Amino acid sequence: MELLKQRILQDGKCFPGGILKVDSFINHQMDPALMYNIAQEFARLFQDKGINKIVTIEASGIAPAIFVGYIMHLPVVFVKKKEPKTMHNMLSTSVHSFTKDREYKVCISADFLSSDDKVLFIDDFLANGNAALGMLDLIEQAGAEIKGMGFIIEKAFQSGGTILRDKGIHVESLAIIEDLSNCRIVIR
Ligand code: 5GP
Repeated sequence: MELLKQRILQDGKCFPGGILKVDSFINHQMDPALMYNIAQEFARLFQDKGINKIVTIEASGIAPAIFVGYIMHLPVVFVKKKEPKTMHNMLSTSVHSFTKDREYKVCISADFLSSDDKVLFIDDFLANGNAALGMLDLIEQAGAEIKGMGFIIEKAFQSGGTILRDKGIHVESLAIIEDLSNCRIVIR
């Protein structure tokens, strides 16, 4: 997506360890117009997949996911990173956080993810694919079906994209970063 690529080159910052900071338009301050364009592109790419639910993981996936749900007229559920005391029928799994380098438990209520659901998963970044694999585990526990995964930014020098595509999952990433070494952003 050209608009997104230009914005990453203009405002993205790289950090040691292969981290791209986009907190002036995606991860902290957000550009709603860009986010809406991103969501339109996801809606276009996944329009014929028979999806009936958008699922994401808090916090940064929520903004794009809610716009996708709005455009596709579908409900949006987000996986929680803290276990609420009041959650009914909880499904949970463990995810390794790339940015925080620790394991954490994530959960979703089976009231909102069930065997009726054909899921589109939306997230901000695809790095090693740990969040996405956690999502697949929750989807399997619920007896739901994954129809596609959409990422705003994929880092091609990490393994997540290959792992997910090798599983036969329809993965779409709107900007693919080839390299961040020497603090230079190289986009495919
Ligand atoms: P994965 O689970 O694919 O290993 O990592 C994806 C998650 O880690 C994303 O949801 C995002 O929150 C975070 N992440 C991974 N790489 C980056 C990065 O380069 N920049 C930022 N801002 N977040 C990242």
